[in-house]
Amino acid sequence: MAVGVHRNAQVIVNRAALYHNIHSEYERLDHGTRLFMVVKANGYGHGAVEVAKVAKKAGASGFCVAILDEALELRKAGLQDPILVLGLTDLNAVPVAAKEHVSLTVSSAKWLQKAAQLLRKQSIKDPLRVHIGLDTGMGRIGFQTQTGLKQALKAIKQDHNQLDFEGIFTHFATADSPDDKYFKLQVNRFNKLMEVVKPRPKFVHVSNSATSLWHQKCNGNMIRYGAAGYGLNPSAGALKPPFKLEPAMTVTTELSYVKLVKPGRSIGYGATYTTGDDQWIGTVPIGYADGFHRNLKGFHVLIDGQFCPVIGQVCMDQFMVRLPHQMEPGTKVTIIGKDGDKEISLQDMADYSHTIHYEIACGFTERLPRKYIN
Ligand SMILES: *Cc1c(COP(=O)(O)O)cnc(C)c1O
Repeated sequence: MAVGVHRNAQVIVNRAALYHNIHSEYERLDHGTRLFMVVKANGYGHGAVEVAKVAKKAGASGFCVAILDEALELRKAGLQDPILVLGLTDLNAVPVAAKEHVSLTVSSAKWLQKAAQLLRKQSIKDPLRVHIGLDTGMGRIGFQTQTGLKQALKAIKQDHNQLDFEGIFTHFATADSPDDKYFKLQVNRFNKLMEVVKPRPKFVHVSNSATSLWHQKCNGNMIRYGAAGYGLNPSAGALKPPFKLEPAMTVTTELSYVKLVKPGRSIGYGATYTTGDDQWIGTVPIGYADGFHRNLKGFHVLIDGQFCPVIGQVCMDQFMVRLPHQMEPGTKVTIIGKDGDKEISLQDMADYSHTIHYEIACGFTERLPRKYIN
């Protein structure tokens, strides 16, 4: 996708905010507990490589991604730190992962045997680093029973020249909820499964942001820290974080066109909005192809310190807003962020869109260039 370097529309990322959110959590960790910054989906839309660099300075000793290609992007940028792929990886990518020292998540004993076979066949000297995934109630990937887990441990033992048992982990489904009943159930299942893991691998980890913020005792010796590092409260405000989270993302553009519209004229596809009186209408050069969802019709942006409503349907590349008075084309438009004493947060936009801020943040497309401040 083309990056819009010749347009005035951008995602601005505040490095100082990232540093604050990551370092504050790093300082709360028990001695010896490692922080792996989760930079999947282009660092939740903030730019994976830049976030990774800031995270290292803030105390991170490794990174988590969702797919192998995201790990390779970090390697290509010169980052040599441990990287864990959280999703499952195709067998045919195993040689690349081994050579690049990227750790993979495993949830099948058969997969382990085949992976080892492949490495032997291709005479690859580097062992593949693996983390065993345990499904304690997320219901996504991982071993659910001691029997399955034992088979995996046996497979690793048998092929210990090709397989390096580096870690074991689980993922919580409700760590961001004030009700900890299901969380405790998962903890019990995890402990039960871990009974058969002797000796333990280098990394035992269970914590996403929410777990580390609100159930710190469970942390093990590594955390997978994502949303909170970007300044996003994983509980959407239901729980208060132990330190102030500073949103790192701002999205801005400028009015591309301004006009006075007479009463009775319609705006946008479907002619869903019709002016009732003389109105100043501004055009904003961002649309749903940039990640400004079509269901944000009726939401608002900030211009000159004031909320201006989005009128008519949001188009692929543009949308229209009602202005309080005449304004010049080129006037700054804040989509996400502060202007004067008002603010539009990712959470506000997510609430209006009936989704979560994670989805909004990673939904801003590559067409919007990322710019870094501080
Ligand atoms: C995405 C992800 C995380 C990070 O979660 P946050 O809520 O963003 O901290 C941690 N672990 C796994 C397995 C994930 O998929």
